[in-house]
Amino acid sequence: MNGASLYHRSLDSFCYSPDGESMVVRLQAAADDVASVDLWVGDPYEWSHKPGIDSPQGTWHCHRVPAQKIGSDGLRDFWEARWKTPYRRARYFFRITGLDGSRLDYGEKGLVPCNPDSADSRPDFWNTFLFPYIHETDIFRVPEWVARTVWYEIFPDRFCNGDSSNDPADVQPWGRLPKSNSEFYGGDLKGIIQKLDHIESLGCNGIYLTPIFASPTAHKYDTADYLRIDPSFGTEGDLRELVQACKARGIRIILDAVFNHAGREFGPWEDVIEKGPDSRYRDWFHIRDFPLFPLGKDTGDSRDTNFETFGFTTRMPKLNTSNPDMREYLLEVAVRYVRDFGIDGWRLDVANEVDHAFWREFRRRVKAVNPDAYIVGEVWLDAMPWLRGDQYDGVMNYPFELAISDFLCPSPNALIGRDFLHRIDAISFSYPDTVMKSMFNLVDSHDTDRIITRFGGRDPAKCALVLLFALPGSPCIYYGTEYALEGGRDPDCRRCMVWDPDPAEREFADFVTALVRVRRTYWKTFAEGTRRGISLADFPGFVAFILEGEGRRIALMVNRDPAPIPAQSWKTALEVKDSVKVQNLLSGKRFDDALGGRDSAVFML
Ligand code: CA
Repeated sequence: MNGASLYHRSLDSFCYSPDGESMVVRLQAAADDVASVDLWVGDPYEWSHKPGIDSPQGTWHCHRVPAQKIGSDGLRDFWEARWKTPYRRARYFFRITGLDGSRLDYGEKGLVPCNPDSADSRPDFWNTFLFPYIHETDIFRVPEWVARTVWYEIFPDRFCNGDSSNDPADVQPWGRLPKSNSEFYGGDLKGIIQKLDHIESLGCNGIYLTPIFASPTAHKYDTADYLRIDPSFGTEGDLRELVQACKARGIRIILDAVFNHAGREFGPWEDVIEKGPDSRYRDWFHIRDFPLFPLGKDTGDSRDTNFETFGFTTRMPKLNTSNPDMREYLLEVAVRYVRDFGIDGWRLDVANEVDHAFWREFRRRVKAVNPDAYIVGEVWLDAMPWLRGDQYDGVMNYPFELAISDFLCPSPNALIGRDFLHRIDAISFSYPDTVMKSMFNLVDSHDTDRIITRFGGRDPAKCALVLLFALPGSPCIYYGTEYALEGGRDPDCRRCMVWDPDPAEREFADFVTALVRVRRTYWKTFAEGTRRGISLADFPGFVAFILEGEGRRIALMVNRDPAPIPAQSWKTALEVKDSVKVQNLLSGKRFDDALGGRDSAVFML
């Protein structure tokens, strides 16, 4: 057995309580190296005459809980055991049997050869891991509505112009061509209100708005005033009306909190620029020295400045969230829109470049006003440090997006089905299940190219959406994706919304609507059910997931490649009898034939 590959720590995805009573314990081991894993676990203080483990101190009362293999990333297998703690505490070690027949006990002291048949080889009570106490305040809990939500992301300037009276002076005519970030199209909050019918008809019941506060740009990630709605987007009354209209339809709405940095026109920053070291706001920012621009001019690159910024963009000075006044200002902004406008939560921009202490306080304050608010951070890579229950409820799950892209992208290096599933397992294992279920999943956004363009067509884009909807977490549709809107990377991914779809675009919207309907109708199976991935060695472009729970089994399958997959192959893989005709829930049609090239299907087993 490869002892070097065995790994566990009593924290994060390796050891957590999902519910305040039971605990989940996981072990990582080399792939195909271990025959069985037993968790030996008991209360640290329960010593008795009952059967257990002898030590010089007496007999420790403990139990054997067999672990199951829950996944693999190809190099490592992931094992998991669950135990209901009688007293909210646990002390435990692993007894691991290798495929070669060797046995090891694994605790915090390390690996110790084990021979249960020998009286001289008793387990060592002190070679254990400890989960000291399950506190309710340490449990990761998220609003229950998130599991039922399918999101719709809106970039307001480009969505719908519902009020021409608030248009910027240089507003451009609505159109389908690529756009730049320096053009304005007059989209606004009134436009969103007018198009709630459209969003509701798609089945989406959550809206994520990119920033709406006063700012000179179309994207508004360079805030001038957090306490004012951008006049070209509307008024406070419009925001109230939008939130109320959403509530009336059962649609949740979250706003974008750009708290890592402000914009060039943010009042306190203008004060610093004007007054220099005498400004009362100088500590609201990360200023190393004065003058701010030692070259005597703004080159646009913060490597030429004496202050910190987002990236190297001098127009986005970084906020000092450890300054008490600055922190209080932002926290009041966060609370204000939840308390006074009734929004359902916040998406946090560049969330991982803001300090943890700030986010802990942010959570405390926002949840004090609305315990049901959803807090989702923008973190593109491993986000475990922010997802321990004290900061965010979820993150924008770009690792899933990358896995889907690496599988579907037309490239000779594209992942094969088996390796795609390995990647999904690796991501899933890196978080507690409870965290995975509250992720904000997406395949494209205002920060990426659009899926039609990325994958080179509508059929692979449909495959991407099916995979997105198969994974744990709440999926998000980026505005325009329902009409197969194209676009490369920023700014091209921010084209005007299509409001005059042609028949092919309508057909794409029918597909998206059907997918959303399946996800929402059977949300409990998607959220609470088990999930098994299936690949086929002979068809590297095939991937399927079987979700099981709530008395039903739902299959979602995708064929990335152009060659069809014979019925016998996919039916054998999914354990469907040859004679059974399945009904594709996306098309409403029965089929029992080959799965077409670049095609997908969702059906009940
Ligand atoms: Ca307008």
